[in-house]
Amino acid sequence: MTLATVRGMKDILPPESARWTELEGLFRAHAVRYGFLEIRTPLLERTELFARAVGETTDIVEKEMYTFTDRSGESLTVRPEGTAPVVRALLNHRADAGEWPARFFYIGPMFRHERPQKGRLRQFHQFGAEAFGTDSPYADAEAVAFLHGFLAAAGLAGVSLEINSLGDPECRPAYLDALASFLAAKEGELCDDCRRRAGRNPLRVLDCKAERCVRATADAPSILDFLCGPCRDHFHGVESALASSGILFSRNPRMVRGLDYYRRTTFEFVIPGMGAQNTVAAGGRYDGLAEMLGGRERVPAIGFAVGVERLLMLLGEGRAAGPSAEAYLVVATPALLPEAFRRKMELSACGVRADMDYEGRSVKSQFRRADRSGARVVLVFGEDEAHRGAVVYRDMERGLQEEIPAETAIRRLCDREKKEE
Ligand SMILES: [Zn+2]
Ligand SMILES: [Zn+2]
Repeated sequence: MTLATVRGMKDILPPESARWTELEGLFRAHAVRYGFLEIRTPLLERTELFARAVGETTDIVEKEMYTFTDRSGESLTVRPEGTAPVVRALLNHRADAGEWPARFFYIGPMFRHERPQKGRLRQFHQFGAEAFGTDSPYADAEAVAFLHGFLAAAGLAGVSLEINSLGDPECRPAYLDALASFLAAKEGELCDDCRRRAGRNPLRVLDCKAERCVRATADAPSILDFLCGPCRDHFHGVESALASSGILFSRNPRMVRGLDYYRRTTFEFVIPGMGAQNTVAAGGRYDGLAEMLGGRERVPAIGFAVGVERLLMLLGEGRAAGPSAEAYLVVATPALLPEAFRRKMELSACGVRADMDYEGRSVKSQFRRADRSGARVVLVFGEDEAHRGAVVYRDMERGLQEEIPAETAIRRLCDREKKEE
């Protein structure tokens, strides 16, 4: 019996893998344009990192992490998210991080033991970015603009940007009090989960997707009415920097994060009408995280993450796969295989995608394969031509063929490749 993949994990095969490569390339290109450099952190971290960063009482840490004890008795976890490892790396290498702001991006798999469903896997992938060392509203606007530019270039249509501010330790406690007393009066109308968390973490109730909770909290107080002076200035700063960059947005005071270290700006790109899974990318400011992870100084930080599977799903099927080869080499007799193979290697070296058959199939069958490959040029290596150092060059698009020296055929294909670059 053959073995299947682990539940909730999947293989990415061609032609789908080509769409991944394309999207990763697009994200990299945008990151570099906005001044973000790539960081690669290990897949495994000490479990304590996520317990501290993500929070002991969150679903992720309580139920969803792939945690195990390794052979030396240490508790390790396969990363469930990308921010905590990047902050850890920054604190470990603070001296190498250079001048502030230090801007990083990452691309890679994350692992959570969730119930698999459409669009949700246990190994899923994220594009993320984090900028450290500045609390200027321009840094927030820059991260949003980077993401906005990337999503537009990827061809995502109908996406809208929502922003909010969560305040800071100065002004948030008063809001939490107001929200908690509002929720206390509505207790009977909330779902079981929310009734449990209303006292401990009232912000999460605003995040609940249950219809009864959405209805019960429709008139909940807005955090934007509770912001202190500096937080209000910061929020207005982000809004005007976005407006002056021509980026449209709307305020959503219900957009919250359940964790303490989030400060001020939060933002999401959403597709209206997509229900609970409408968020394509989400980000926010997390000035308090570095200190929670043992940093000596407060490190202002803003970042975001994009769910790659979700994005690919929203982008739809995309373009059909292109031809698998540009040139196909047909060999009349196995004795000519060495010569044809040498020529194929020359084509590959100059950037021409060439293919041929190594199995000694009939010429007719090789032509069928050439056809299926979509190759625009077929080179036929025949015995008579070989004596003259020549091949038959067949242009499939024009339906023309001629006998030319093998050298000339290779040069022509390589020159064409150069011109098209
Ligand atoms: Zn609820
Ligand atoms: Zn404040």
